[in-house]
Amino acid sequence: MNGFRGQVTLDGPSGTGKSSVARDVATRLGAAYLDTGAMYRAATVAVLDAGVDLDDPEGIARAVAEADIEVGTSAETEVVLVDGEDVAVRIRGTEVTRAVSPVSAVPAVRRLLVERQRALVAAAEAVVVEGRDIGTVVLPDATLKIYLTAAPEVRAERRAGQLGVTDPARIAHIAADLRRRDAYDSSRADSPLRPAADAIVVDSTGLDRAAVVERVLDLAGTAVRDPA
Ligand code: C5P
Repeated sequence: MNGFRGQVTLDGPSGTGKSSVARDVATRLGAAYLDTGAMYRAATVAVLDAGVDLDDPEGIARAVAEADIEVGTSAETEVVLVDGEDVAVRIRGTEVTRAVSPVSAVPAVRRLLVERQRALVAAAEAVVVEGRDIGTVVLPDATLKIYLTAAPEVRAERRAGQLGVTDPARIAHIAADLRRRDAYDSSRADSPLRPAADAIVVDSTGLDRAAVVERVLDLAGTAVRDPA
């Protein structure tokens, strides 16, 4: 569907296929794409490189405020820079993945990044934004809000597949890591992970990526024809 104008938000826990779906939907709509998780991951790189303790919210907030964080808005090319350095690969590693939840729970970090997210969104006529709090906090008036879920064991298997892991013990480890991150993200005081009251919940447990993309595109078409 071309000619889409507005914002599609895609929230949900890790391992639901959110990023691939968000990117495909953005490409099909001819829209910009913003991965807010990449912004929190880049902020985490800045915190780790500053040598700040993860129990020190003020130090975390300072390190993030002082860093020059740049995340691109193209669905085709991923750009993630911290102080001019390309960290697109590093942000997906275990060191960053382990530290990102405590960094993103710091309210001052969220305030700063949410402000940047809104500025990036305002610059685009059409945009797909993925994260945890986009429909609830960042863009409460978005054109279409999707909350993507999937059964926990399916999420762990998908994440293992992305990482090329087949060993059952390592898959169990990935599942435990997903549960830990979900629990942290859902229970934090500031902007916890939860569906917005007006979000449409899409369960991708029995659906492949293409089917989820088609469902979201259908919903985007309906949202434009029938604005709330
Ligand atoms: O989506 P991704 O797994 O890359 O997100 C990494 C982490 O960033 C999440 O576990 C969460 O702690 C944080 N995050 C957030 N709010 C967002 C996007 C991500 O707190 N909008």
